[in-house]
Amino acid sequence: MSFQTRDGAGWQSVSWPEGLNYLLCFLWFGLVIGIAEALVVLAVGLSQGHFLFTSDHFSWMIPLAEAVSYFVAGIPFLLLAWVFPRHKFLFIVAGVLGFFGTLSVLSMSGKLIWWSIYILSAGIALRAAWTVRQHPNGFLRLVRWSTPGLIVVVALCAAGIYGRRACREHHALSQLRQAAADAPNVLLIVLDTVRADALSNYSESGVDTPNMTRFGEEGIVFEKALSTCSWTLPSHASMFTGRYPHELSADWNSALDERYPTLAEVLGRQGYATAGFVANLNYCSRPTGLARGFAHYEDYLVSVREVARHCYWVNVLMKGSNGLARAGLYDSLGRKTGEQITQDFARWLDRRPDRPFFAFLNYLDAHDPYLPEKLSTENRDLTHKEKLAMKYWRDQDPTRISDEYRRFARACYDSKIRDLDGQIGRLLEHLEQRGLRENTLVIITSDHGEHFGEHGVYYHGNTLYESAVHVPLMISWPGRLPTGIRTEVPVSLRDLAATILDLALEPRSTELPGNSLQLAWQDTPAIPGTQPSKLFCTVTPHPAPERLPMQKYAPAAKGTMYSILDGQDYVIREADDRVELFDFQKFSAGASNLADNEVFRGRLERTVRELDRFLDAFPAWKESSSGTSTRQAGNVSSDRRRITRGDTPAHADDLQPRRSAQ
Ligand SMILES: [Zn+2]
Repeated sequence: MSFQTRDGAGWQSVSWPEGLNYLLCFLWFGLVIGIAEALVVLAVGLSQGHFLFTSDHFSWMIPLAEAVSYFVAGIPFLLLAWVFPRHKFLFIVAGVLGFFGTLSVLSMSGKLIWWSIYILSAGIALRAAWTVRQHPNGFLRLVRWSTPGLIVVVALCAAGIYGRRACREHHALSQLRQAAADAPNVLLIVLDTVRADALSNYSESGVDTPNMTRFGEEGIVFEKALSTCSWTLPSHASMFTGRYPHELSADWNSALDERYPTLAEVLGRQGYATAGFVANLNYCSRPTGLARGFAHYEDYLVSVREVARHCYWVNVLMKGSNGLARAGLYDSLGRKTGEQITQDFARWLDRRPDRPFFAFLNYLDAHDPYLPEKLSTENRDLTHKEKLAMKYWRDQDPTRISDEYRRFARACYDSKIRDLDGQIGRLLEHLEQRGLRENTLVIITSDHGEHFGEHGVYYHGNTLYESAVHVPLMISWPGRLPTGIRTEVPVSLRDLAATILDLALEPRSTELPGNSLQLAWQDTPAIPGTQPSKLFCTVTPHPAPERLPMQKYAPAAKGTMYSILDGQDYVIREADDRVELFDFQKFSAGASNLADNEVFRGRLERTVRELDRFLDAFPAWKESSSGTSTRQAGNVSSDRRRITRGDTPAHADDLQPRRSAQ
């Protein structure tokens, strides 16, 4: 068996196993293209100044993914070479791989228009083919000699990341001071995208959640808790720092910077072993800044699926018509399940340092796409068609969603809530089995809710209505906190950090702003005269609403929104200064806007002035990351117009949804 290659003076026979050189060429192209793609990702991240929606593992996962995919793609060519030994196709291979490789590398920049990418790719492919045709043996020598070096570079990247993380964790733990002898463990559980009325212990219409109901009965249930923002990153950043979102750098494309200390940092300084386990990878992972202060942090998986997610052509396939759904993969590759989070935490519990811990768990099960194991209302599996409907739920035009489609989506969401409740049960069992329940302060809450057509809005991160910001909040510490308490005192998750420090540390720490929520269940506040913080919420517009109709057609698309609670009056102000008024006593999903009623004019104007006063108390804040000019404190008139809802824009046909968990 022999192959033939051309080396300047003429064609020479290359004997077996030299034929494997062709396969080696595919591997070499994969490595080179993968490394080039990784460099493009790095350059794009650095040039745009915002965090990357990927882990630092991308530096070795992209080359590995491309190397494997190109290698596999090369196997049929090897067979072809075997059948047609005299076929001279090395230069054709170089041209084809050069074309597709250049195409993927240039496409990842996101800066070039499509036809220029194709022209450049074709040019480079022709040049590669011509060069290899002229110097085939020289090219093969290059491949043979450089491939081991490329593999070593990729392996060193992986080893460097693992080594650096292990060293950092070891260093962080070795520096911890001795914790107080009676310091409790703290477990903060954030159920991403869970609206309060989805739980049976918050609403009669809520799905049956026996574990969370039992948990609430063992502690304190806050019936009226509001998050400070209606999407993930600012809401978590607010919980971690005790500050309102407009004080922080965390936004759609910008990470939480190091200006303010975090809860994990403060507890770490008090001798706590800190650990985070997050399923929302886009907006809770290390690049977002939320990992600051945690000695141990588990975000992106290192798995075959995660590696596959880094392959350019796998992504193309996923974005195609029904993508990988045809192969039974409806959810995004690399998504972490609640079961995974629970297991990871349990594993860490068994090898944790011998000291009190602060653990943060983020469960993403209720976030779209809602793909439950079973539809709980009918106790049956979803059909292929139904799974596809849920896979593309976020991409729908909200003005065209039928009642049937909406009800089905809600049923799927509720089924995921039920799955989550099962995870909470298992999580608490893990604490019980290890004898940790008695000495662990456990907090269950959510970062924001979810719209299902209330006020004509869907999804989240696009309004400040009740469905978007009213979240469950339950605190339990057996033997130390009262049980069976349900408080109607309105509270903000902004006060969560201060509450945890107040309960866990002795003497109480004032390192983070906010007021302890003990005020909500104690007759006498620890510090006389203190009140729970103002219930203030804000949301900035999505940076690319044209790609997501559910964002494009929502009020926040016009610009930054604010809301405030004053007494029982909840006012929402949109970017065009139109306002809505709701009675907080009757604050429920789809509650009526009272701003049009003359009877409430006085209450409306008073609350708007309160919002102005509240904003005046803060210095001028950051420019919004989307480029929308952010309001300067103090320049807002109290002469507000009232609204019901903004006009619904026309449908756009050129929507290219960008999928990410928010
Ligand atoms: Zn979220």
